[in-house]
Amino acid sequence: MARIVQKYGGTSVGDVERIKNVANRIKAIRDEGNELVVVVSARSGVTNELIARAKAIHPNPPEREMDQLLSIGEQETIALTAMALEAIGVGAVSYTGAQAGIFTDKVHTKAKIKTIDARPIEADLSAGKVIIVAGFQGINEEGHITTLGRGGSDLTAIALAAAVKADKCEIYTDVDGVYTADPRVVKDARKLPEISYDEMLELASLGSKVMQTRSVEFASKYNVIFEVRSSFNNNPGTIVKQEVAYMEKVVVRGVAVDKDQAKVVVSNIADRPGTAAKVFRALADANINVDMIVQNAGQGGVATLTFTVPQTETLKAEKALAPVLKEIGGSITLDDKIAKLSVVGVGMRTHSGVASTLFTALAGADINLELISTSEIKISVVIAKDKADEAARVAHKAFHLDQL
Ligand code: ADP
Ligand code: ASP
Ligand code: MG
Repeated sequence: MARIVQKYGGTSVGDVERIKNVANRIKAIRDEGNELVVVVSARSGVTNELIARAKAIHPNPPEREMDQLLSIGEQETIALTAMALEAIGVGAVSYTGAQAGIFTDKVHTKAKIKTIDARPIEADLSAGKVIIVAGFQGINEEGHITTLGRGGSDLTAIALAAAVKADKCEIYTDVDGVYTADPRVVKDARKLPEISYDEMLELASLGSKVMQTRSVEFASKYNVIFEVRSSFNNNPGTIVKQEVAYMEKVVVRGVAVDKDQAKVVVSNIADRPGTAAKVFRALADANINVDMIVQNAGQGGVATLTFTVPQTETLKAEKALAPVLKEIGGSITLDDKIAKLSVVGVGMRTHSGVASTLFTALAGADINLELISTSEIKISVVIAKDKADEAARVAHKAFHLDQL
């Protein structure tokens, strides 16, 4: 007998037939005598639809109310999944995030999990039930519903796997593992049998939506080994785990594209100590994730700061910077017709020439680089959004990822 945490994403529970399919898969594992805690997402498209409705009513909806609204998507699927299991003779009970004891901080729409009180789940597991938990949601100390950021059901699953000391954690989605690039964009992308936390973390944070970034961070911190698999077949998936020595032999493990970023240019600001600090303090206070910061050399007493922020946060960024710009001068322009392309691999620590290979390949396709940033295991460039898919294919080929 093993204790297994599974997560089924939005497409996997996308309609009644698919929910029945998930119930049958759960039954098969349960019939082998295993204990199961199953996290489900909202049906695919539901969260987006709810956001669109909110925006049609209020341009910048109060975040507490957003969480009230967005949490209902998952509440539908937990109940339907539990019913589907009961209908085929499997005892099941559904839990909202609060009922599952998932306590978070107070940051609405991207709350962090603080603790999980697993006692109610343990009690129902002992009673022989399959537990169905709503992904993406928790409760804060004041009793308000919070959500964990887009894709947050992954985090619910990984955190529960740690909390109930699961033997296995399986993330079921609509592709059968983590590929060298998004298989929908790069047709000859290859499935990776395994990948390190560090590489998965970079790919996720650089735009590969297959796993939520924070869930990978959590897995790495608590050493939760997990497998990404498809709910539509029985193919082996991708194991995500601590790095092992041979992994460094591959220089580039994968290519990621992020089309949800915007470029912010703050120009004509005073070129003196403390201005950058003021700009980024204001953005940090507004909980905005800033990336790819570049400052040009100041000329004539003024400087320009360029950086990227998530597209969803451009309005918030503009608002947060308004008082600062009054103080330090300058003006702001936004450009959301950009994309970030990145190549990732732990082998970059020990191999050189990755940047030149990437830049040469992109130049060969006449793709202009607007910003560049590097770290130990990745290189990212900002390019025009309409060139992003082509750039992904070009980079994938340049590193021979189709021949892995
Ligand atoms: P779920 O609803 O199950 O959480 P997501 O849509 O969040 O599923 O994630 C799965 C999707 O991630 C796939 O359909 C695929 O298009 C996309 N994806 C992006 N990059 C990759 C990659 N490197 N490997 C696999 N899938 C990827
Ligand atoms: N339903 C949420 C979303 O679409 C959470 C998830 O699917 O993981 O972001
Ligand atoms: Mg997802």
